[in-house]
Amino acid sequence: MDYNRFISAISKARKPNPMRETASYVLSGPPTLISLGAGKPNPTTFPYKSIQVEAKDGSKFTLDGSELSRALQYSETSGISELRSWLANLHLKYHDPPLMKTDNFDICVTPGCMNGLSKVLTSLLSPGDHVLVEDPTYTGVISFLRPLPIKIIGVETDALGLNPDSLLKVLSRWNPKDALDADSGIPKVLYTVPNCANPTGASTSMERKKRIYEIARTYNLVIIEDDPYFFLQFNAKLAPSYQSMDTDGRVIRCDSMSKIVSPGFRIGWVSGAKPFVERIVYDQQSSALHCNTVSQVLAIKLFDLWHTDGFERHLESIRNFYRAQRDAAISSLNKWLSGLAEWSVPEGGMFLWVKIHKVEDTREMILKRAFAMEVVVLPGAWFSVDSKKSSAYCRVSYSSASPAKMDEGIRRLSEVVRDEISSLSP
Ligand code: PMP
Repeated sequence: MDYNRFISAISKARKPNPMRETASYVLSGPPTLISLGAGKPNPTTFPYKSIQVEAKDGSKFTLDGSELSRALQYSETSGISELRSWLANLHLKYHDPPLMKTDNFDICVTPGCMNGLSKVLTSLLSPGDHVLVEDPTYTGVISFLRPLPIKIIGVETDALGLNPDSLLKVLSRWNPKDALDADSGIPKVLYTVPNCANPTGASTSMERKKRIYEIARTYNLVIIEDDPYFFLQFNAKLAPSYQSMDTDGRVIRCDSMSKIVSPGFRIGWVSGAKPFVERIVYDQQSSALHCNTVSQVLAIKLFDLWHTDGFERHLESIRNFYRAQRDAAISSLNKWLSGLAEWSVPEGGMFLWVKIHKVEDTREMILKRAFAMEVVVLPGAWFSVDSKKSSAYCRVSYSSASPAKMDEGIRRLSEVVRDEISSLSP
């Protein structure tokens, strides 16, 4: 791959930060090395003496002394080494990326997946570029992209995820050969949430993924695979990722600990071909500097205590929890909204994408009637690439409310829908 073609002008211009490069030399240097260079605060001035941790399964550990000093200190730009090795093993186990066999693979830990996404998009998009995103899509990415001097092109999705026919249709205004012409405006980037998408809950089928990867090869696209719900798939066999089929090095994956450990930790990670990940590291060297060290240490200490078995058990318990939540939400939808709305049953994640019958756009109905009835769901239009487009959908999340609260919330929603429909009738 000619990586140069994909890197944005601003990212190309960004050079390594010499202070951070020196810091990694010091961190990996021999114990006899004396550093008078770093501007690190002296750990004796930190107010904490120890951090004691007890996990719900009874695992316990204490951070004190040099371990605590290290956790409270500045750390490596791309993540502490133990966590990065643990993540590399995770990728080997769940994605077995062909790139890992070629030594053209790297990982950078970022302060959350959204932060990783913003860095990836910054590293790829230059003014005037066209970017392909599935529509509807994650609001964090829409909000990041909208102010940029670029053109966002929506690609249709349905209950089976991103639609390859729609992708081909959008791309048909260009010739694959345009990819050789820097001024052709042909998109270089496709952003997708392949599993249990936010907001639709849809997962892109394997057959579609294969076609989409082939289209990406034909049109020379980079695929940004934003997959924070990967471990929240309810099927025992997790769907193979784009990264697992990426022989070219055109897939950049963005992962998250938010749904499997804690969103407050702000741990995400970007992985893919070295020339892409290097750009993320340079960005981080001059922005966040690194992901929170305390979070990284707390996470890896627990994973080490758990071993693979404990981590798998933890994932299983999360999946069981959300599966039961989904089932409860679906039974409440069947009870209250049958005949008034339609929905698909998601194979994982946290979201239901509910289409309200006879209502062209759910915005007013939700913001006025639903909020007045003290029930919050989100209008589908908020997730559209074109903010002016109407949407008959609403996003219903089953992650937090108890089954009893969900049932009452969905009952209230059914009243809201009935009121709205009767106000529309002549
Ligand atoms: N991508 C998608 C599709 C999401 O739904 C979210 C969280 N809502 C994120 C990224 C951001 O994840 P994080 O908390 O790791 O920043």
